[in-house]
Amino acid sequence: MWSVYLDNNPLRAGSARALGVASRRAYHSPLAPLRARKVSKTALPGRRWVRIRNFMAGISGTDLALVHLQTDPSVGLMALPRPSRTYLGREVVGEVIDIGPEAEFLRVGDRVAYQLDQCCATRDIEPPCRHCASGNYSICENRYLPGPQPIGGGWGDEMILHERQLFLVPDGLADEQAALLEPSAVALHAALRHQPQPEENVLVIGAGSIGLLTIQAVRVFAPQANVTVLARHPFQVEMATRMGATRMLYVEDGTAAVARMTGGRHYRRRLGPELLVGGFDVIYDTVGSDTTMQQALQWVRGRGTIVQAGMRLERMHLDPTPIWDQEVNICGAIGHGSESWPGGAGLASSWSADNGGRVSTFALAAALIRERRLTPQRLVTHRFPLREVRRAVEVARDKATHRSIKVLLDIRDVAMPSEAVEELQPVEASE
Ligand SMILES: [Zn+2]
Repeated sequence: MWSVYLDNNPLRAGSARALGVASRRAYHSPLAPLRARKVSKTALPGRRWVRIRNFMAGISGTDLALVHLQTDPSVGLMALPRPSRTYLGREVVGEVIDIGPEAEFLRVGDRVAYQLDQCCATRDIEPPCRHCASGNYSICENRYLPGPQPIGGGWGDEMILHERQLFLVPDGLADEQAALLEPSAVALHAALRHQPQPEENVLVIGAGSIGLLTIQAVRVFAPQANVTVLARHPFQVEMATRMGATRMLYVEDGTAAVARMTGGRHYRRRLGPELLVGGFDVIYDTVGSDTTMQQALQWVRGRGTIVQAGMRLERMHLDPTPIWDQEVNICGAIGHGSESWPGGAGLASSWSADNGGRVSTFALAAALIRERRLTPQRLVTHRFPLREVRRAVEVARDKATHRSIKVLLDIRDVAMPSEAVEELQPVEASE
C-alpha cells in the first residue's frame, strides 16, 4: 500500500524549519518530514479492524499546517506523545475490502468515509467516558491512551482502521460529496455550538472551505440571519456570495465599518487603541489566528458569542479585556460529534434522530447534502492524481495564485513516482 505521511523525526522537522525560512520548497525536499512511500502489506491489527481502498481525498487546512510545520512547540497540545509517523488525509471516501472476524457494522463492499479518531468506541472501552456517551467523541477523555493506531490515511491507496472510525455513506451522495462530509460536519458543528437566532447579525471570519460551509450551515439553521463574511481574496468573496453571505467586510475597513454595519459606537485614540461598543451578535472565527481572535473580541457585542472554530497550534498575543468588559461568551468547536435538535427551519426531513433527539453530525451533514442545502462539492477547484500530491499541496496552500478553495486527490490513479520505492514497516500497528 502507498501512503503519504509525515516522518516525525525531529532532525527532519528541524532541517525543514531552518531551510523553510528561505523557501517553501524546503517542506517538499527529500530531507523534509513529508514522505510518499510504500508501506508493507500488513494484517489487520484487531478483530474489529477493516481495510479500506480509498477513492478520493481532500486537502484540509490541518493537513497543510502539518506539512508546513505550523506547530508552535510551546503549545500545550504538543505535550502529547507523538507516533513516529503522522498519516495525512481525513477527508476521504473509499470502499471496505477486508474486515476482521468480529466486525459488527461494516461489510466488504460498503462505501465509507473517515469519521472518528481514537475514542472509547474504537478502544472498546465500556462504559464509555461522559463525552462519548453523549456522542461527542472529538473530546473523548480516553483519546490519547496508548493502543493500536490506524495505518495509512486518506492520502494513500489504502488505510486500516477500527470499524467504528468509519461512517457508512448513504446512497445518493457522489464520491466528492462523501469525501467532503468531514469539513461539512465541522462547519455544522461550529454553527450548532451556538445556533444563531433569526435576524441576528452574524460574522463569519475566513472564507476557506470551513468558513464557506459555515455560511451555508448558518443559513440552514437561521435563514433570516444577516451573514457577513470577512474574506481575504476576491475569488473567496464571489464564492461566499454563492454560499449565502449577505454582506462583505474588508479588513482595511476595520472597526469603523463594523460600527456602521451593526449600529455600534466606535472609540479611537489618535494612533492608539480602538474600542467598539455594540457589534455582531455571533462571530464564527474559522481561522483561529491571534489577529482574527482579536478582531472577534473587538467586533462582538456585549454578551455576544464567539465560536472559535479555527484550529491553530500557535500561541496568541491578545487584549482579552472585552471578555470581562463586554461579558463575551467564547466557545470552542473541534471536529464534530452529535447534535441536538435545533428546532424550526424545516429541518424535520434531515433530522432522523434516534438517540434521545440527537443525531451524529456526519448523518446530519449527509442528509443536508442530499437535500442540496449543503453543497461542499461546489468548493472543489482542483483535482490531482495522488502521484502529484506535492503539486496539489502547493496549489492548496497558495490560494491567491491558484484561486484554490478545495483541492482533491484522486486516489484511483495510484501509480507513484519512482522516488517512492522504499518499503517501510507499518510501525504504528504495534505501538
Ligand atoms: Zn470517550
